[in-house]
Amino acid sequence: MTFDVDLFVIGAGSGGVRAARVAAEYGARVLVAENFRVGGTCVIRGCVPKKLLVYASRFADDFADAAGYGWRVGKTQFDWPSLVAAKEKEISRLSRAYRANVERAGGAFVEERAQVEGPQSVRLASGRIVTARHILVATGAAPDMALDIPGRDHAISSNEIFDLEVFPRRLLVVGGGYIAVEFASLFARLGSAVILAARGENILRGFDEDMREGLRDAMVRAGVRFAFAHLPTRIERREGALHVTLNDGEKLVADQVLNALGRRPNTRNLGLEAVGVALDINGAVKVDAYSRSSVETISAVGDVTNRINLTPVAVREGQAFADTVFGGKPTIVDHKNVPTAVFATPEIGAVGLTEKQARDKFEVVDIYRAEFTPMKATLSGRPERTIMKIVVDGATDRVLGVHLLGHESSEMAQLLAIAIKMGATKSDFDATMALHPTATEELVTLRQRTARYDRSAM
Ligand SMILES: Cc1cc2nc3c(=O)[nH]c(=O)nc-3n(C[C@H](O)[C@H](O)[C@H](O)COP(=O)(O)OP(=O)(O)OC[C@H]3O[C@@H](n4cnc5c(N)ncnc54)[C@H](O)[C@@H]3O)c2cc1C
Repeated sequence: MTFDVDLFVIGAGSGGVRAARVAAEYGARVLVAENFRVGGTCVIRGCVPKKLLVYASRFADDFADAAGYGWRVGKTQFDWPSLVAAKEKEISRLSRAYRANVERAGGAFVEERAQVEGPQSVRLASGRIVTARHILVATGAAPDMALDIPGRDHAISSNEIFDLEVFPRRLLVVGGGYIAVEFASLFARLGSAVILAARGENILRGFDEDMREGLRDAMVRAGVRFAFAHLPTRIERREGALHVTLNDGEKLVADQVLNALGRRPNTRNLGLEAVGVALDINGAVKVDAYSRSSVETISAVGDVTNRINLTPVAVREGQAFADTVFGGKPTIVDHKNVPTAVFATPEIGAVGLTEKQARDKFEVVDIYRAEFTPMKATLSGRPERTIMKIVVDGATDRVLGVHLLGHESSEMAQLLAIAIKMGATKSDFDATMALHPTATEELVTLRQRTARYDRSAM
């Protein structure tokens, strides 16, 4: 049987674009459909614009800290429309680069919605049917706006916040995950009065407890108000503002309400179930280690599979798919020890198991923990704490996880991930010479165990 293309990719985000480019480089005839903007969530309305906003927000601290170092900074003023315009220019450049990379390799794009028509055919919004030897579903995820309350349509999601015309002087963030926390942190620094309302008793479920507490306290110092165990029950628009009622009856006034309660895989109306592709209860495509769905000719990578929803993971999965199917190199992605960060100020950087995960899994767990004032905060006088924690398997001395709260922790976590991937032990850390004066030297000079949890002794 002949096909129009060898590979049809639905979605030009991190995973889809990588798979398309690599498959085309292997000589496959590749067509990619994108219904919004080439580059996907990360480039257009995720990691990249978010980090640019984080950089913008940190100037506030720099201006304030400068005085302690002898600088006199004149009156400063922040202009939101200028930042939005500069951000747009950069993401447009990246989007063009993504497109060019695929096209240079021989792939092509169609800018319209696509859905699966059969195991080896796709229907475009224009009605055109394209047959394909393989279909890759790389449609990502979208904000889950499941806040079932009157006036919920007044809330925006992370999709809209990047392009608001007017800067929100009063912002209510709903949710406690990393996206909610990052926006709360950065908007507070840009000058918003921020309240974060979350279902739980603290932010960042799943992160190490010390990091959760440390960042929460730092954000309180930065002026963020937390309303834990609180969610809105009603949102009304009156007199140019949003009037929000919380579940304890408290009334708030905000310029914007950011609903950051979660994300769901983009599988709705994609035709997947009709051709027999199995989805899990969250609507994610169920895949095997090679990212193959329950239909042999249909694979899926990235957020739509809800494995680890991060860009580098989607990229690796896209690469592995192309290597396996078109490169004759069967490749499985290792989802262990994926480093992760929360780009609040200060940042969290983490790799490996949290203390709790380690204690659930290992007989003997040793904890090494340091907390100190970072050097830069001495002259600036900023009340700031850096926290570092190493989680060690007491039986083998292997480092199971490292968790950092402080400046540039994301950069540190990336490098620590190499050591952990290589199976570094605490003795390897100890044998490494310190680099002075840095914050990370603590990690190789932490000799004193803070705690030992031994199940056999309990
Ligand atoms: C606010 C925010 C901040 C983030 N920050 C980080 C971060 O700091 N670090 C990190 O690693 N990750 C971050 N992420 C997560 C990261 O963006 C995703 O993990 C990543 O983009 C997943 O890539 P993907 O290829 O699976 O999907 P996506 O990048 O979402 O791409 C999917 C594409 O498919 C398109 N599409 C969907 N349905 C169809 C259809 N039927 N037809 C045609 N096209 C379709 C979409 O328009 C989209 O362009 C962030 C996400 C958000 C929302």
